[in-house]
Amino acid sequence: MIPDYLSLDIPESDKPRLVIVGGGFAGLELARNLKNGPYQVVLFDRNNYHTFQPLLYQVATSGLEPDSIAGPLRKVFDGFRDFYFRMVKVESIDYQGKTINTPIGKLSYHFLVLACGSETNFFGLEEVKRKAFPLKKVVHALNLRSHILQNFEKAVLTADPLNHQRLMNLVIVGGGPTGVEVAGALGELKLHVLPRDFPDLDFSDMKVFLVEGESRLLGAMGVEAATNAKKYLEQYGTEVILDTVVTGYDGQTVFMNNHQSIESHTLIWAAGVHGNMVDGLPHLVVEKSRILVNEFNQVENVPSIFAIGDIALMKNQDAPKGHPMVAQVAIQQGRMLAKNLKAVLQGKSMQSFKYKDLGSMATVGRKKAVVEFPNGLKFGGFFAWLLWMFIHLISLIGFRNKLVTFVNWVWSYFTYDKGNRLIIRRFDKEKTSPVEAG
Ligand SMILES: Cc1cc2nc3c(=O)[nH]c(=O)nc-3n(C[C@H](O)[C@H](O)[C@H](O)COP(=O)(O)OP(=O)(O)OC[C@H]3O[C@@H](n4cnc5c(N)ncnc54)[C@H](O)[C@@H]3O)c2cc1C
Repeated sequence: MIPDYLSLDIPESDKPRLVIVGGGFAGLELARNLKNGPYQVVLFDRNNYHTFQPLLYQVATSGLEPDSIAGPLRKVFDGFRDFYFRMVKVESIDYQGKTINTPIGKLSYHFLVLACGSETNFFGLEEVKRKAFPLKKVVHALNLRSHILQNFEKAVLTADPLNHQRLMNLVIVGGGPTGVEVAGALGELKLHVLPRDFPDLDFSDMKVFLVEGESRLLGAMGVEAATNAKKYLEQYGTEVILDTVVTGYDGQTVFMNNHQSIESHTLIWAAGVHGNMVDGLPHLVVEKSRILVNEFNQVENVPSIFAIGDIALMKNQDAPKGHPMVAQVAIQQGRMLAKNLKAVLQGKSMQSFKYKDLGSMATVGRKKAVVEFPNGLKFGGFFAWLLWMFIHLISLIGFRNKLVTFVNWVWSYFTYDKGNRLIIRRFDKEKTSPVEAG
C-alpha cells in the first residue's frame, strides 16, 4: 500500500509527456537536448546524482573524493521548464497501459525512454556475488576504499602469517579498462603512498594480482595497447595472470580454473556487466539482459518505448553483436534520440543512429596510459596519460568537479601523495554483501 500522503505530483501539461528512466550518460544527454522543448519531461533516477563511472576506481583507491565524480541532477536541470526530476526507482512498466510503476505510484506517458544502464555480471557465481567487490556505484567505490584501508590497519595488528598475507593480497578479476586501471592505481599506492602511511608494514608483502580469462589484457583495444598495459603493470610488481578464469571465492581464497588459488580478503570483480532490466517488457524484446531496439533505438514492436545506452541492444551491419557498453555510445544515442523525438512531433521521419567511434584509452597508474584512435593512430606512455587526464577532466559534470579533480591530480603529481585516506564509514563484508551495500 502506498501511503496517501505520498504522490509523484506531476502536473498535467498540454505537451506530450516523455518519461526517462535513468540520469546516466544516455538519459542526461537526452534530457539536456530537450531543454524547454516540445515535451513535458519527467526524469526518474534512484539517486539524486549522475555518476561518472570511468573515475569510480579513483574513489576506490583514494585518488578522488566521491563528490568530484558525481553531478547533482537537480543542479544540471536548473532553469528547465516543464521538467520534473523524481528520486524514485522505477519498478516496472505496463507497456499496454503506457504507465510506469514506482513505490510512490504510477505515472502515464506518451513516450518512455529506458536509460537504466547496466549492473555487474557475476556469471551465476552466487558466492562470488556475495563476497566480491563490484565497482558500478559510488557506494561500491566507498566500501572498497574503506575495506582496503581497514585491511592495512588490520595487517599491522595481525601476527598470523596466513591472515597477514590475505590482508596484503588484492585480486582483481577482469583485464578490461576497469581492471587495468584499478590494478595500476593499486600499484601506485603500493609504490608511492602506503609505505609512508604504514612504516610498520613491509610492502614487498603487498601483492596485486590481475586475472584475465583471455590471452591478453584490454581485449577491445589492439595488441600494442595490451602489451604496453601489461608491461606498465608489471613495472609496479602486479602479477598478470592470463588465460585463467576465477571459478569461486569464499571470502578468503580465490579459486581459479588452472587449479591454483590465491589467499586474499579482497576480490574486486571487474569481469563484465549486463543490462539493468526493468520488469514488464515482452520477453521477446530482451536478449542477454539488454533490450532489442531498431535503428532509432525504438523497442521492437513497442513504438512508444525507446531504450538507449548500455541497456539497449542495437544490432546492425556496423555492430552485428551490438555496440560496446561505453559512455560515448550512450551519449550519442541520447543526443540522436532527442532529435528524433522532436522530429516525430513535427511529422518528420526519424534518422538512423550511427555510432562515431572517438577512440579508446586506459590509464595505468602514474604517468602511463594507452590510447588508440579509429584512424589507426596509437601511442602509450606520458603523452597518452596527459591526453587521458584532459579528456576525463572535460567530461566531468560541472566546473566545480573539474576544478577539484584538476587540483587533486596536480597535487598528486607533484607530491606523489593521494587524497586523504580516511576510514569514515567502516565496511564489513562479513556482515553486508558488497554488491547489496547500496
Ligand atoms: C568502473 C567503470 C569504468 C568505466 N570506464 C569507462 C571508460 O573509461 N570509458 C567509457 O566510455 N565507458 C566506461 N564505462 C562504461 C560507461 O560508464 C557506461 O557505458 C555508461 O555509464 C552507460 O551509460 P548509461 O546512461 O547507459 O547508464 P548509466 O550511466 O549506468 O546510468 C544509468 C542510470 O540509471 C539509473 N537507474 C537504473 N535503474 C533505475 C531504475 N529502475 N529506476 C530509476 N533509476 C534507475 C542509475 O541510477 C543510473 O543513474 C565504465 C563503467 C564502469 C562501471
